[in-house]
Amino acid sequence: MTTVEVPHGSRSVMLTVSAVVEETADTRSIVFAVPDDLRDKFAYRPGQFLTLRIPSERTGSVARCYSLASSPFSDDAPKVTVKRTSDGYGSNWLCDNVAAGQTIEVLPPAGVFTPKSLDHDFLLFGGGSGITPVISILKSALTQGGGKVVLVYANRDEKSVIFAEELRALAEKYPTRLTVVHWLESVQGLPTAEQLAALVAPYESYEAFMCGPGPFMDTVHRALNTVGMPRARVHAEVFNSLSGDPFADQAPVEVSEEDAADAATVEVELDGEVHTLSWPRKQTLVDIMLAKGIDVPYSCQEGECGSCACTVLEGKVEMEHCDVLDPEDIEAGYILGCQARPVTDHLKIEF
Ligand SMILES: Cc1cc2nc3c(=O)[nH]c(=O)nc-3n(C[C@H](O)[C@H](O)[C@H](O)COP(=O)(O)OP(=O)(O)OC[C@H]3O[C@@H](n4cnc5c(N)ncnc54)[C@H](O)[C@@H]3O)c2cc1C
Repeated sequence: MTTVEVPHGSRSVMLTVSAVVEETADTRSIVFAVPDDLRDKFAYRPGQFLTLRIPSERTGSVARCYSLASSPFSDDAPKVTVKRTSDGYGSNWLCDNVAAGQTIEVLPPAGVFTPKSLDHDFLLFGGGSGITPVISILKSALTQGGGKVVLVYANRDEKSVIFAEELRALAEKYPTRLTVVHWLESVQGLPTAEQLAALVAPYESYEAFMCGPGPFMDTVHRALNTVGMPRARVHAEVFNSLSGDPFADQAPVEVSEEDAADAATVEVELDGEVHTLSWPRKQTLVDIMLAKGIDVPYSCQEGECGSCACTVLEGKVEMEHCDVLDPEDIEAGYILGCQARPVTDHLKIEF
């Protein structure tokens, strides 16, 4: 077992694992102890994720994101839940090697798959390990909000249902507010868009959050479209593996005088503060914000994790990669700051 005690970059920290919980035959939860001096840095919103640095003799390390399955409101400590991916390196390493007392290098919570307010009625969809960010939203909405929560949770069979007991206890505790519908492929086959549309039609006015395998999310999208849920109320989290190293500190990007002269102007709103910046056309939004010392949310810098998603209110950008955004997101103005370069001369962007 490789245990690294010093973080590799200035943004990450070493966190001690306080417990490892076997959830199902191929899924383990890792609970972290957060010392008092890191509580602010590791404060998180329901639906956000942590990025873990996993040692590798082949490449030095790999970085993998794991959603927080705990709720910041009802759980004492942050917990991620890792499901083995067949032939996957990182997930199997974590499930095979992590034990209580060990330290893991972790980047602070990130991600935009989080409700703006918990005081809504929520229609939640989880497919397999996609339940992790969804259960965090579910628990948070039940403890902090006053609305109803409907969860449609799809799994291969009964044995693969993660958090079955926790969900049963919550359904008992909130009998008038929480409805859990388990959809087992072994019993009902894969859900179709027509079946899901019929199931969720009464909840068309709710706020929808979904996470799961691609085909499952496509089916849910089609079902929500059928029942006429507006795209602005549909939120999706995509699980994929990072290929770069978000732990390494980034050297400021060198900009030639000529490139600096060819710049747009952008007003960026972040945490209620507006920054007016010059935006050289060859640089990304994350580059220019980091260069100004602004604490912009970002992680992978490859357009793969969605940490730096923001909205263009005015102007136009172009993006190299943005696989985590669906066409509807892009149409609604969502962009990834780490991939965005300006097209128009003036832009307004909001995080
Ligand atoms: C925002 C977000 C949240 C997520 N939340 C969760 C979650 O809550 N739960 C969950 O289970 N998953 C989650 N994921 C998915 C997770 O990050 C991983 O993609 C998943 O665990 C699969 O990773 P893996 O390394 O096991 O598999 P793969 O990525 O398929 O691993 C195979 C890759 O590892 C490389 N590799 C093989 N051997 C080595 C080696 N020795 N050294 C270095 N590289 C090697 C291979 O070349 C190949 O590219 C999330 C992803 C995102 C983006």
